[in-house]
Amino acid sequence: MGNDMFGGLMKGLSSVLPQDDPNIKKFTAQSKINDLKEEETGIYAELGKKVMEEEPGKYPGFEERLRAVRMELSEAESGAKKADMEAKEAEKVKEAETAKRTCPGCGTINEEGVKFCSECGTEIGQGLTCPGCGAALSPGTKFCGSCGAKVGV
Ligand SMILES: [Zn+2]
Ligand SMILES: [Zn+2]
Repeated sequence: MGNDMFGGLMKGLSSVLPQDDPNIKKFTAQSKINDLKEEETGIYAELGKKVMEEEPGKYPGFEERLRAVRMELSEAESGAKKADMEAKEAEKVKEAETAKRTCPGCGTINEEGVKFCSECGTEIGQGLTCPGCGAALSPGTKFCGSCGAKVGV
């Protein structure tokens, strides 16, 4: 029964040209109406801006509403900026958290709370320093860039 209905619908769609379908006609007309209304609104907006520029103070009510919107807009913008900064800050904290768990010897990211690297046994949480000259080195370094000493295991 459902199949018959579906088949009938398909037959209906294929036998009727799209532009003759009342639903498509309705849809086309409605989207044209929407486009035109949008254009109309745009023209009014342009006109409004022109009037505001050319005759400031003529419509104090509208200017008051515009001021209120602009105030809210700048608040919303600074809110968005603040949220963005907070997101970046959170990202940094996360990175620092990961760095703390990263082995200074081989670069393996270990489980939280472990003291020694599960891969190479290097102590975690201490920055890697050169055994030869004491220079600070980045994880995974094999030879010291300052003195050339072999580093790690
Ligand atoms: Zn390691
Ligand atoms: Zn060194």
